Amino acid sequence: MNTKSVILEARKQGRAALDELAGKRLLASFGISVPNSLVVQDATEVAAACDKLKLPLVLKVVSPDILHKSDVGGVKVGLRNAGEIEEAIRTMMLRPEIARARIDGFLLEEMAPAGQEVVIGGLHDSQFGPLVMVGLGGVFVEVLADVSFRICPITRLDAEEMLDELKGAPLLRGARGRKPASRTAIVDALLKVGGEGGLLMTHADDIAEADINPLIVSEHGAVAVDARFVLTK
Ligand code: ADP
Ligand code: MG
Repeated sequence: MNTKSVILEARKQGRAALDELAGKRLLASFGISVPNSLVVQDATEVAAACDKLKLPLVLKVVSPDILHKSDVGGVKVGLRNAGEIEEAIRTMMLRPEIARARIDGFLLEEMAPAGQEVVIGGLHDSQFGPLVMVGLGGVFVEVLADVSFRICPITRLDAEEMLDELKGAPLLRGARGRKPASRTAIVDALLKVGGEGGLLMTHADDIAEADINPLIVSEHGAVAVDARFVLTK
């Protein structure tokens, strides 16, 4: 697939940001693993969708009005069958923030293998152009702001140094009883986003902000389970 077509389509629809499925298509076109997924409009389409995906699944609301889906009850993981998914959609639609939002559908996606949550981000600096960021997911990024930035394009060595700069770096290596997270998989993902010929360099004119939060990193690989791209004006 042409990596630009996803962006052109969103622009044609007058969108300020890519929806999650489009964002994941963009990531996939740069070789970053994303879960198999599809969008249903309502509970009646769930059974057919379940035949095409490997259970258990994650359900997520798709809406341009909702930035943090889990904050409004818009993410449910580990759904084991069509019945559970249908029920979860009905419950979701009753949540006040979801009931009043514009809903583009519900994303159903396969569960990523368990691992540590890492954030990869990007933003466009008016002076330096695209910057790439990496940090540890969850509370580490929100509360501790344990992140590291570089100007794009980054080299493999830059990516390695970015990881070493994180205060939480020992956690990635498996400290405190954690399973180690594949360093190679994180470095590869950083290069695909921020390296020469990577996503941010290729689409510097179109992408104002990128947020892959989280990339779930196991001992063996990494999967981007959430993606948000804000387009330039
Ligand atoms: P939010 O908009 O709230 O950031 P996310 O899509 O990031 O929503 O989902 C919230 C959390 O649910 C993630 O941080 C992750 O822990 C979990 N999650 C989401 N998608 C998956 C998936 N495909 N596999 C496993 N866990 C997932
Ligand atoms: Mg997220």
